[in-house]
Amino acid sequence: MKTAYIYDPIFLTHETGIGHPETSHRLVSAHSHLTSQDFYKKLNLFNPRDAEIKWIQTIHQPGYIERVKSSCETGMNMIDTPDVQVCPESYNVSLKAAGSLLELADQVMHGEVSNGFAMVRPPGHHAENSTAMGFCLFNSIAIAARYLQQKYDLKRILILDWDVHHGNGTQHAFEEDPNVFYISLHQYPHYPGTGALYETGTGKGEGTTLNCPMNAGLGDDAYREAFKDKILPATRNFNPDAILISAGFDAHRADPLASIRLDTESYGWMTEEMMSMADKYCEGRLISVLEGGYDFNALAESITEHVRVLSQS
Ligand SMILES: [Zn+2]
Repeated sequence: MKTAYIYDPIFLTHETGIGHPETSHRLVSAHSHLTSQDFYKKLNLFNPRDAEIKWIQTIHQPGYIERVKSSCETGMNMIDTPDVQVCPESYNVSLKAAGSLLELADQVMHGEVSNGFAMVRPPGHHAENSTAMGFCLFNSIAIAARYLQQKYDLKRILILDWDVHHGNGTQHAFEEDPNVFYISLHQYPHYPGTGALYETGTGKGEGTTLNCPMNAGLGDDAYREAFKDKILPATRNFNPDAILISAGFDAHRADPLASIRLDTESYGWMTEEMMSMADKYCEGRLISVLEGGYDFNALAESITEHVRVLSQS
């Protein structure tokens, strides 16, 4: 089966200003590295599309969506917090980022590909219902989970978030939903402050949130242990109909924004483990989206490792 890859120069037009770590150069260098690999020609390339507002509204308040649109259009340079820098293009680029995941979801559900990676920006997993946070405007992976449930009647969606920062927005979107299992590995304590071990979901969603907080300085061994002891058993119990990955690469030892010490190869075995779960429980359906990752070389190499393994399906 094939692997999809979505990238487009439009994602470079979201400008965050001089000195901001979430810059378009992240994608330029990663795309360049990926296209130089032999396996690149095996990938199915797709174009992004705009997410329809009705799908954005499954996660975000209409008033917030309007506020993002008007803030960008009127030339504001930030939304809600100084780390969310925007330019006039940012709203349209954010619709394309979310739409890329919907396109990927369609390709996977139509059987065109078994899995895929959307290399988009801005990232999404910190975006809350009505607040921009942590470089994020719209929570693309959360929107894709709702899309799969509502358009394709998939019952159980598993989201694995291995970005080094806890995906507060995604957790909050689904903490009461027993049909979306949110699992996160992240440095803790660290930005954004959420993601403690005791955060396990609320109400009917109790038990379908799993946080694996990691102390600064931990690395590959600790991640292997978390997969073996917690993440893989929880995935087997949940029996997902699709697996989504919030693939940030800022837990790499070279990353300037955090202190977890994963190697490039770590992203290969984590990808393999989730592919084997997808093969076993959901016909290989696995959809991955770029979140963070701020060392250009480490990001390019780690993305390449992730997509290389995906393409061996
Ligand atoms: Zn991050």
